[in-house]
This record gives sequence, C-alpha cells and structure tokens, in this order.
Amino acid sequence: MDCLFCRIIAGEIPSSKVYEDENVYAFRDINPQAPVHVLVVPKAHIESADAVASNNSDAVKAVFEAIPKVAAECGLTNGYRVITNIGEDGCQSVKHIHFHVLGGKKLPENMG
Ligand code: AMP
Ligand code: ZN
Repeated sequence: MDCLFCRIIAGEIPSSKVYEDENVYAFRDINPQAPVHVLVVPKAHIESADAVASNNSDAVKAVFEAIPKVAAECGLTNGYRVITNIGEDGCQSVKHIHFHVLGGKKLPENMG
C-alpha cells in the first residue's frame, strides 16, 4: 500500500484523529493553513474528485455527512471552508481524495 492516506487510515502512520466512522476518517493537517485545518477522507481509496462516479460516490456522500460533525467537534460555529484539490493545476499532493476543512478565523475571500 503506497498511499499515504490509506496508511494513515490503517493506523500504520500516526495522525491526530478528530472523527471516525465506518466510512470516513478525519485528522488534523500536519501543516495547518488556518487555526482549524482538518482533512476529511473516505476510507475507500478514490484518487480525486475527478474520479468520482456512480459506483463510488457513496464514499463522498459519507464524507459530507461527516463534515458537520467534524466542524462541531472543532468548534466551528461561525462557518468554515471546504476545499478539495484536484490534479496538477489544483496542486493535489496526495492522490487519495480528501476535503480540507478550514476555519477558526475569518478566511481570506480570495481562493486563487
Ligand atoms: P493536497 O495538497 O490538497 O493534496 O493536501 C494534502 C495535505 O496533506 C496537505 O495540506 C499536507 O499538509 C497534508 N499532509 C501531508 N502529510 C500528512 C500527514 N502525515 N498527516 C497529516 N497531514 C498531512
Ligand atoms: Zn489511499
């Protein structure tokens, strides 16, 4: 298994867990870009949002059902941002779909 996030989900690489259920794992980003920066990932390996289709979209549904729980766990009562980077131009560095949950301050309006 050469996928970093699959290895984190399997517990082979340590992480700071925020939330877990049958289908989803959420943990603190190692290089936070905001006071709260959590990565929410499906346990199923999907390369990116560009690889989502009818046969694997249940994993994405589960992620979005988990995000409000992650936000509540992290005290994000005043809003937050969810981002997923895709491929080269999107600057995706880990090829296992993940959703950045950012908050804990007023975020910049500019998204690039
Ligand atoms: P992306 O650039 O969208 O692919 O996001 C990958 C994210 O994973 C980056 O924000 C990294 O800081 C984060 N990251 C990389 N390795 C780890 C790790 N071992 N534990 C937690 N976060 C990580
Ligand atoms: Zn993976």
